[in-house]
Amino acid sequence: MNRVVPLLILSVLPLPAWGPKGHRLVADASLQPLPPELRAWYTGREALYRETCLEPDRQKDHDPEEDSRHHLHSEAYGGPANVPFDLETARKRLGPVIFLRRGQLPWAIGARYQRLVEAFRAQDRTRVVVDSAWLCHYVADAQVPLHSTRNSNGKETGQRGIHKRWETALVDWKVPVLAPPRPAQAPGQPLREPWSWIAEAHALLPALLEADDRASRSVDYGEPGESPYWDTFWASEHSRVAGQLVRSAECTADLLLAAWKDAGRPR
Ligand SMILES: [Zn+2]
Repeated sequence: MNRVVPLLILSVLPLPAWGPKGHRLVADASLQPLPPELRAWYTGREALYRETCLEPDRQKDHDPEEDSRHHLHSEAYGGPANVPFDLETARKRLGPVIFLRRGQLPWAIGARYQRLVEAFRAQDRTRVVVDSAWLCHYVADAQVPLHSTRNSNGKETGQRGIHKRWETALVDWKVPVLAPPRPAQAPGQPLREPWSWIAEAHALLPALLEADDRASRSVDYGEPGESPYWDTFWASEHSRVAGQLVRSAECTADLLLAAWKDAGRPR
């Protein structure tokens, strides 16, 4: 009995994304490609932005619905291409309880985006920085392939723990900095973007699962740097991990720019 309880607890613990290091790297990089008039909103408050970016994961301890804002099990809708844009349509299709369990990540991004537009309109710098940081967190979560699937921790494919191995352990072990992001471009329909990101991240899943499976054949996972698993897994995954991190920064910058423009480019 004593051995069962910790396993049960582990199975319902929320899975974080990227880990603190990854989210901080994305936050720092996401301010680089902003035009100077927008970048000025964050000047002197970079530390607040970077640290608030970790807050959504901490909020899971206080708000029972928070975990659901960090993922979308797209299989529940028949794949990423079939996820409704309208929240009420999605809720009706799955029913309110299952809807929450399967995740509300793209709608959480939309809601936070709207709050950011309001903060810009109100010319409230602290709110702008805080809402931007929350947005940055959710946007980065949307780039993690394992946040787009019900097989989020490898349970269905016998690859338990893959979530942390891919998005946290590889980053902590091997990613000191990100490549410079491209200049920010405000999307024509910013609220539609999360659906494309999640579909693109989901498409990376088969290769990621295959790389983990190949790397773990006849070796123990062990710790990074100690087991050959990690060198093999990193060789397959480094461009996907680094690519999705830079993309997180670019997509965040794109939405910050769009929100600022939607608010009338306040100075
Ligand atoms: Zn998260």
